Order: sequence, then structure tokens, then C-alpha cells
Amino acid sequence: MALLNATDVRERYLRLRDEAGPEVTVVAATKYVPLEQLGVLAEAGVEVVGENRAQDLAAKHARYGDAFRWHFIGHLQSNKVKVVNPLCELVHSLDSESAARKLTVPALLEVNLSGEASKSGVAPESVGSWLERFPGIRGLMTMPPLADDPEASRPGFRRLAELARAHGLAELSMGTSQDWRVAVEEGATLIRVGSTLFG
Ligand SMILES: *Cc1c(COP(=O)(O)O)cnc(C)c1O
Repeated sequence: MALLNATDVRERYLRLRDEAGPEVTVVAATKYVPLEQLGVLAEAGVEVVGENRAQDLAAKHARYGDAFRWHFIGHLQSNKVKVVNPLCELVHSLDSESAARKLTVPALLEVNLSGEASKSGVAPESVGSWLERFPGIRGLMTMPPLADDPEASRPGFRRLAELARAHGLAELSMGTSQDWRVAVEEGATLIRVGSTLFG
């Protein structure tokens, strides 16, 4: 990743926030931002960062703990929950029962809408039983299959929003650099953006 510049990141971040609107939390997906450069994001005014790996989360939090609110957006293994618990305010990507049993922070359930076995996430039909077992779940998250056209994500986002509504869940984490506008139109309350912020 090229060296980040706080002025450029601030400009992109403010434009994104402005377009997404005040109801939407912009989570900067920082998996490709090296530890040494994360300070640039704080300087740029970024408030919430999302990390994919517990190890990176721990290292980055140790250095910049107070500068951000920390979310976890990657696949969460149960043996990593103890790292995440004291550091994060929200886990977006819960899909393991053993992790759910140990988790003490609020979480969103990751739903696999495409049915591809290679994808993380639980089946849409199982959302109800997850909520019965784990009442701490605040909402749903999904990661659509890669596509060139952001419109390709719309049916999945709409379906996720309907599922959340049907279960009385308030939070919807959907949309990345490529399709966040469509996600916001379909009711996203959190968007997870990396490349479009960092250029
Ligand atoms: C990397 C990542 C994102 C952001 O993707 P961009 O295309 O860089 O915006 C969002 N969600 C998850 C789970 C990610 O791993």
C-alpha cells in the first residue's frame, strides 16, 4: 500500500460520510494499513476502524488504542475471542457457536446469502435459532460475492434488510468500497470501506 496522506484520507472520508448520511457509521477496513501508518487515519479524523485478524487488532490497539473505536470484521475463531473481548465495541462477523459462547461484546451475525460453501456466515434460515440462543446479537452482516456491478449486490442487501426487520434487529453491516451506495439505499447502518478511503 502506498504511503497515506492525512489530507487525502480526510477529504475522502468526509465526502463518504457526507454521502452516506448521519445515520450510517463508516467503519474503515484497515487490514491493509500497516501499523506505522494507522496514525495517519487518526489525523484524518477517522473514528472507527475494523480489523480482520485478532493478532493485528492486538498490535494496532496496543499502539493506537485511544485514537479509535475498534470493530472486528474478520472471521472470528473461538480461540481468538479473548483477544477481541477487551478491545472491541462490536464484532460484525460472528458465525461460530463456540465463539458466540465466549464473546462478551455486542455482535452481528454474518449471513451467507449466496449459499456458497466456501463463504463464511450462517444460513439465512438459521437466524431465528441463533437469536434464541444468543440474545446479544444486534444485527446482521453480509459479504456479497465479488462482482463488477454494484447493482449485483442489491438483491442480497435487500434480503438481509428484510431478514433483520423480520427478526426486529436494528443493525445492518453491509457494503464495501464497491457497493456501499447500494447498501445505504437498502438500509445499511454500518458500511465497511477500505480501498476507496485509502486510494
Ligand atoms: C477488506 C474488507 C472490507 C473492505 O473492502 P474494500 O473493498 O477495501 O472497501 C469490508 N469488509 C470486510 C469483511 C473486509 O475484509
